[in-house]
Amino acid sequence: MKVAASILAAVIASASSFVVQPQNTRRDTFLSARKPFITGNWKLNPTTKKEAIELATGIANAVSDSSPGDVALFIPYPFLESVESAVDGKVTIGAEFITAEESGAFTGGVSPLMLKSMGIEWALAGHSERRTLNGESDEEINEQCLMLIENGMNVVLCIGETLEEFEKGLVDSVCAIQLKKNLAGVTPEQMKQVTIAYEPVWAIGTGKVATPEIAQDVHKVCRDIIADMYDETVADECRILYGGSVSPESVDGLMAKPDIDGTLVGGASLDDSKFGRIINFETVEE
Ligand code: PEP
Repeated sequence: MKVAASILAAVIASASSFVVQPQNTRRDTFLSARKPFITGNWKLNPTTKKEAIELATGIANAVSDSSPGDVALFIPYPFLESVESAVDGKVTIGAEFITAEESGAFTGGVSPLMLKSMGIEWALAGHSERRTLNGESDEEINEQCLMLIENGMNVVLCIGETLEEFEKGLVDSVCAIQLKKNLAGVTPEQMKQVTIAYEPVWAIGTGKVATPEIAQDVHKVCRDIIADMYDETVADECRILYGGSVSPESVDGLMAKPDIDGTLVGGASLDDSKFGRIINFETVEE
């Protein structure tokens, strides 16, 4: 408990230097078109290559000319090549993480150069499970983002607060800290290679999806932070995805919100009919 309390105190102290100022002058809705982006994260699933190919084929079959956006799957390394050929260009395939090194004595590591040589051009960075289970720090996540970007690849940077931070009202500050630390050194031009996934940790794998209103508010805050870090154009063009227990039942309401440009889906991306419904979300009137 003492350790948890001191961590929280450190977050609060650190957060105070990243307070987000209200942006009254800023537009409430975006002007530029951001194509929807529906993405899945398979985590440590499925168990076999055969299952991976079947699942990916089912998902690719759900993508049609009338699907509203781009689709990507972030999947375990051993399945990358066979799944990439199974989806036949209908779905972008990416890795779930990288090692921020080009080569050398890093047993178990996978570099962006290795992925690129296989035709893989996307990866996640900063997923909350890697932050907590693998102890990845903001600085390491920043190195991963820079390594991907500098090698011409694209990154989906995952950020988001814990339940304790949510209950303490620290959401805006936590997002500001993570965006500023994880994107340090990324230029405005390089932001074209960056997608943000806002994933409240309390919503991941819990079945507790954030309401569209809560998610919209945080996405707007994140866009304002990006505008402060860069400019309005970079902020308007940056796709910000929501992740956390997205389902066929919740996707339409989330995607109706102006600052929610897509989703990062864990559990439901392991079911081709559920993920197919999410890919083909329906536009609902606000
Ligand atoms: C995730 O893994 O990023 C995720 C959002 O998982 P789930 O959809 O299962 O909550």
